[in-house]
Amino acid sequence: MDDQILQTAADMYGTPSYVFDLDEFHQRIRHMKEILGHEIKICYAMKANPFLAATSAQAADGLEVCSPGEYAICRRAGVPGKKIVLSGVNKEPQQILEVMGEGGAAAFTAESLYQLQILEACAAQESGQRTAQKSAVPVLLRLTSGNQFGMDEETVRAIIRDRGSYPHLDFIGLQYYSGTQKKQMSKLKKELEYLDGVLAGIREELVYELRELEYGPGLSIPYFEGQEIQDEDLMLREFRDFLDQMEFTGTITLEAGRFLAAPCGSYITQVVDLKRSQGQNYCIVDGGIHHVNYYGQAMAMKIPLHRFMPRQASGRREEERWTVCGSLCTSGDMLVKNLPLPDPAMGDLLVFDRIGAYSVTEGIYLFLSRRLPRILTYTEADGLCLVRRDLPTDPLNDGSIHIDQL
Ligand SMILES: *Cc1c(COP(=O)(O)O)cnc(C)c1O
Repeated sequence: MDDQILQTAADMYGTPSYVFDLDEFHQRIRHMKEILGHEIKICYAMKANPFLAATSAQAADGLEVCSPGEYAICRRAGVPGKKIVLSGVNKEPQQILEVMGEGGAAAFTAESLYQLQILEACAAQESGQRTAQKSAVPVLLRLTSGNQFGMDEETVRAIIRDRGSYPHLDFIGLQYYSGTQKKQMSKLKKELEYLDGVLAGIREELVYELRELEYGPGLSIPYFEGQEIQDEDLMLREFRDFLDQMEFTGTITLEAGRFLAAPCGSYITQVVDLKRSQGQNYCIVDGGIHHVNYYGQAMAMKIPLHRFMPRQASGRREEERWTVCGSLCTSGDMLVKNLPLPDPAMGDLLVFDRIGAYSVTEGIYLFLSRRLPRILTYTEADGLCLVRRDLPTDPLNDGSIHIDQL
């Protein structure tokens, strides 16, 4: 998004605001598919930014949905069940039954033996409610990467051997995701080799053909100055080579959040105070760390990719170093330490880029009872659209909001 769009957003709607570029998001998905090949499916992990869910339903092959709230967002956006992978470590029977009753999902993931039993019970109950013979419910067995998610290989194998106990389920494949912001391509190669081996073992030793692999590569995005700007095309091509080297011939779906969403968002703040104290320059902006979340706790240690947009072109004095802080009452609310700025003035804009993933939901939004930032979307066709105004949080923080107001 160019400076003019961001300046207009600030002028028309105020700050602090997020602006999400839906065209760019769409384009990133399309481009990823072009490089990886259209036989590779892309599933958008909507937890990265739920405001991109509706766009992803047009651009991607599916959405990974991890909670009843995320599912509700999909329903309102008109996302069809066949585009939804219902995921999440704690799927409750009520939610599963609701999804099954409303047209199902492309797949349900199973995170544990107990979760699998819940799925089977729900599928049995749901099939009993229909007269026509329903086909089995598609299930992806989640293989763990060594944490609370998924099941170990032994458990997955035991489940497949025991598949007769799950007559209402169809074990279509494996799901695997080992974390985000992976910078080493060699790690992805290793993971794919490992998964290829597991799939081959199941095929040969258990004589059972898993047809799908749903894999979250956790592709990385550089956030800070000085970090190498990666050649994304080169990275994707290298990744495609890894995929090509696999023995597995079934369908591969890539789950991606950060890589697709991060570059599509900017966060606009405004300078509201300037002072010099004990030899240090402080620039206070109207946003803060509660709205910004880069990966890892690197705030204030590094300089995030940003743009300084003065209201008026000044005589451009020499740059001085300013420590940029937000509007929270904690000394931790430091956005950038010693940022070189040319003569900042009240009302100037400081825009933080690459904020399209995770920042919009992962912040400590309720702290200090400040208002939520505005959310705007941008497309070339429709320009800027306000999708959420600056809602107050104080009624949440004293309980004065009533359930019937929601
Ligand atoms: C969060 C998540 C993703 C997306 O991860 P990114 O690193 O943001 O691409 C993919 N798969 C699963 C299972 C997830 O929980």
